[in-house]
Amino acid sequence: MKIALAGNPNSGKSTLFNALTGGHAKTGNWHGVTVGPSTRTAEIGSQRAEITDLPGLYSFSAFSLEEKNASQALTEGDFDLAVCVADALTLPRSLGLALEVQKRFPRAVLVITMRDLLQRRGGRLNENALSERLGMPVVCISAHKKSDLRRLKTFLAHTFSAPQKTKNRITSYDFSNHTDRCAALLAGIYSAGTRREGGLEKLIYNKYFAFPLFILVLLATFFLAFGDHMPGVLLKDGLEWLLSVKIGGALADLIGQAGAATAAEFVCSICGGAGSVLSFVPQIAILYLSLFLMEESGFLSALAFMTDGLFRRVGLTGRAAFSILMGFGCTAAAILTTRGLENKRLQKRAILILGYISCSAKMPVYLAVASTFFQHPFFVLVCIYFAGILLSLAAAFVAAKLYRGDEEFVMEIAHLQFPSLHLALKSLLFSLKQFIIKVATVVLAFLVASWALLSFSFSFRYVGAESGEGMLAVACRALVYFFYPMGITQWQVALAAVSGLIAKENVAGMLALFYGADLTAAMSAPSAVAFIFFIMTCSPCISAIAATARETGTKCALLIAAAQTCTAFLGAYLMYALLAHGAFAAAALAAAAILSVAVLALRRILHAKIHRRRTADHPRFYRRALSAGLVRLFAPFTRVRHAHKRRAGERERVARPRRRDHLLHDRRRGSQTLLPRNLRR
Ligand code: GDP
Repeated sequence: MKIALAGNPNSGKSTLFNALTGGHAKTGNWHGVTVGPSTRTAEIGSQRAEITDLPGLYSFSAFSLEEKNASQALTEGDFDLAVCVADALTLPRSLGLALEVQKRFPRAVLVITMRDLLQRRGGRLNENALSERLGMPVVCISAHKKSDLRRLKTFLAHTFSAPQKTKNRITSYDFSNHTDRCAALLAGIYSAGTRREGGLEKLIYNKYFAFPLFILVLLATFFLAFGDHMPGVLLKDGLEWLLSVKIGGALADLIGQAGAATAAEFVCSICGGAGSVLSFVPQIAILYLSLFLMEESGFLSALAFMTDGLFRRVGLTGRAAFSILMGFGCTAAAILTTRGLENKRLQKRAILILGYISCSAKMPVYLAVASTFFQHPFFVLVCIYFAGILLSLAAAFVAAKLYRGDEEFVMEIAHLQFPSLHLALKSLLFSLKQFIIKVATVVLAFLVASWALLSFSFSFRYVGAESGEGMLAVACRALVYFFYPMGITQWQVALAAVSGLIAKENVAGMLALFYGADLTAAMSAPSAVAFIFFIMTCSPCISAIAATARETGTKCALLIAAAQTCTAFLGAYLMYALLAHGAFAAAALAAAAILSVAVLALRRILHAKIHRRRTADHPRFYRRALSAGLVRLFAPFTRVRHAHKRRAGERERVARPRRRDHLLHDRRRGSQTLLPRNLRR
C-alpha cells in the first residue's frame, strides 16, 4: 500500500507521519516545516504500508514552491490511498482540498486533527454525518493522544480492506464555488466553537511588543548558554574536564605505561580534539531548546508575520524569518526550508543570506577564541550573532537591488499553544544525537586522518604532530599566505580555518588538537577578531553547499560559496588593518570613502546634465542605457531593447496592487489565514 498524507500547511501531517511510522520528520507550529516528500514504512493492521509525508498545499493549482512540490508528488506518485489531513479548527477551508483529493483518487479518506483544541473551544463535529455527506470515510482525532492514534490505525486498516469504490459520489464538482459548497456540507454538523483572542495573542501580534520580546528571548538564551556561572558554561566545563582530562588523560597514561608513547600521544590529541567539540553539547542543547519552544508555541509564526514589513524592504518576505532562525541551528537544514518561500528568486536571495547566519557548529570556534582574548565571552557572542543578522539583511538588500521584483506573501498563522514537554525533549534528544553522531564520525575521522598526515613525513617516518615536517604540514604551508594579511602566521590556524569547509565542527577540533584551550600562541587579539569575522562570513560547510546545489544548481552554489569566501577574506583583512594599524588604515579608509563619494557625486552631476539637456521622462532609465552602451558591443540595439523591457516592467508594476491589498484576512470563518484574493478558496 502506498499512502500519501496531503493537507493544508500546519494541519498536523508530519505529526501523524511520525506517529504512524516512528519517524523523526521535523514538526513545527509554523507554515512550511515540511518542504519535500519523505517516505517511511509502517505496519497498519496486518499490512505493510509505505507512507509519504508531503509539503502543505491549499489546492492543486499551486502557488508557492512547496505547493508545487506537493501537487507534483501527488499527481505523479501512483498512490493507492490518499489521506487528506485537515485541521478541525479551520475545517471549512480545508474541505475544498479534501474534495479535490477525493475527485482525483479512487481511494481517499479524510483525517481531521486537533480534536482536543476543538473540544476546548466548545466546538463540535459529527464525523458520521460528514462522512455520509462527503461520500468518503472520515475520522476526527487528536494526534497527541495514543488512544486516538490506535483508532486511526484501525480506521486505516479498515479502509484498506473495504472494497474500492469505482465511482465517487461527487464526480462533477464546480471548484469555483468552494466556500458556499463547504458551508453547505458542514451545515448543522460542525461548529468551530468560540475563540476569544487572549491578551497574550494580542500582545504577540503587537509590533511594539513582539520585537523587544524576541530580542529578550534571544538574550536570555545566550545568557543561559554563555553567561558566567550559568548552566551552559558550568556543564561545558564539567564535560570538557571529563572527556579530555579524565578519560583522555587516563587512557593516554594507560597506553604510555604499556610503552607505546606514540599511541599515547595519538589518544591524547584525538580525545582533546573530539572532547572539546563534544563538550559544547550543553550549550547547543540550550540553543536548540529555545528554538524549539519558539517554534512550537507559535511565536515564530507571529514573528514571521510581524517581520514581513522589514523583510520586504530587503527584498524577502516574512517567511524568511523561519529560515534565518533555523540557520542558527544548521545552515544545510535551513537551506532546505527556503523551499517554503514563494518563488525561485526569493529562494536564491534567502540562501545567499543564510551563509552569514552563524550555525551551532560555529559556536565552539567563537567561544574558544572569545574566551581566550575577551573577559566576557557572553557579550562577544551576542555581538557576533546580532552582527550576523545585520550582515545578512545587508546582503539581502544588495541582492534585492540586483534582482528586483515584487513578491506575494501567503502564510498560515499558527495557533498559540503551550509546547508539550514530551515533544520538546524528544526533538532535543534527536537533534543532539545527530550532533554527537557527526562528531563521532565525520569530525573524528577528520581528526584521525589529520593527525596521521601531520605525524608522518612523505617518507612515512614518524616525526610527531608538532614538528611541522608531516605531510599535511608541508602541503599546507602555502595556505598561510592567504591568512598573513589578517595577522595569522601559523599554518596550523590556516589549516583549521580551511578544515571548516568539510564541517564547521572541525575548526574547533583542529584548534584544540594544535593549541589546547589557550589560543594566545596561535594569534594576537586583532587577528582573533579578524579570524572570527572570517569564520562568520566565509562559505558554509560542504553539506550546506550541496544543499544549495540541490536547490539552485551547482554553478550557482559554487558561485555563492566563492563570493562569500572572497568577501570573508577581504573583510577580515580590512578588520585586521583597522585594529592593528588603526590610524593608517582609518586614513586609507577615509580616502577611499571620499573618493567613492566624489565618484558618485560626479556621476550624479553628469546625469543631471544629461537629464537637463534631454527631455527624457525617466532619468534613471537613461542612466542605465548609458552604462549598457559603455560595456556592450551593440550598444544602440541593447539600449532600445532595454528601453522596451524597462517600460513594460514599469507599466506592470504600476498596474499591480500593493502586496497587502492582495491579502484577505479571513477571520469570519473561524480561521486566521491570510490568502491572496486570486487564490481559489
Ligand atoms: P504539518 O505542517 O501539516 O506537517 O503540521 P505539523 O505536523 O508540523 O503540526 C503543526 C503543529 O500542530 C505542531 O505544533 C503539532 O504539535 C500540532 N498538532 C498536530 N496535531 C495536533 C493535534 O491533534 N492536537 C494538538 N493540540 N496539536 C496538534
